[in-house]
Amino acid sequence: MGNPTLDVTWAVEWLRKSAAVVAENRMALIELDRVIGDGDHGENLDRGFTAILEKLDAEPPTTPGAAFKLAAMALMSKVGGAAGPLYGTAFLRAATTLGDASELDAPALAAALGAARDGVVARGKAEVGEKTMIDAWTPAVDAAAAAAASGMGPAELLDAAATAAEAGAVSTDPLIARKGRASYLGERAIGHRDPGAASSALILRAAAQAAGVNA
Ligand code: ADP
Ligand code: MG
Repeated sequence: MGNPTLDVTWAVEWLRKSAAVVAENRMALIELDRVIGDGDHGENLDRGFTAILEKLDAEPPTTPGAAFKLAAMALMSKVGGAAGPLYGTAFLRAATTLGDASELDAPALAAALGAARDGVVARGKAEVGEKTMIDAWTPAVDAAAAAAASGMGPAELLDAAATAAEAGAVSTDPLIARKGRASYLGERAIGHRDPGAASSALILRAAAQAAGVNA
């Protein structure tokens, strides 16, 4: 399935596809956050990814790491609330892990996704099962590590990670939230999907699509 490595073209395409899918799902994410939060998640992310698009046009990055650093800076400066700094940290940690590498093989991708997740945990202190974006990220990282260990290529790895993130987002439905605004709701959060887990699944699916996966 496709190339053994991904480069800056993939990284930029991932960010562009993420911006598109966030814009498309802006209202749906607002609606999810309206039910168990304050209703700004879709708007926050849309503003951040629009800023990323502007930066990509203004100063095109030359490595995947530079693309993710650009994304991190835009998200941290433009997105308020919990999600901006969390996503910003994720992209920044991925950028740091990749350094100035120009070609990413499956193990490098798995390491970057793992570093991104670890950044979210370092910042937000959430564990799996607390109804946050970590419930999407951690299964995605585990699937990516398993894919790399079994010799899959980058596109298959990203497909597996996105599929795991999608299942992880669905798994937040019956949970009580232990972190973030939704934690104030107690049992009233039961039956509702976590908006950050939902957006994480969309963004990780965009990564697979940028690598040529048709799903
Ligand atoms: P805010 O809650 O400040 O309005 P957003 O609505 O943009 O910010 O983002 C809410 C999402 O952030 C939640 O759905 C959840 O996935 C994520 N989140 C909140 N707190 C944490 C945390 N401590 N760790 C991980 N993710 C978190
Ligand atoms: Mg919110």
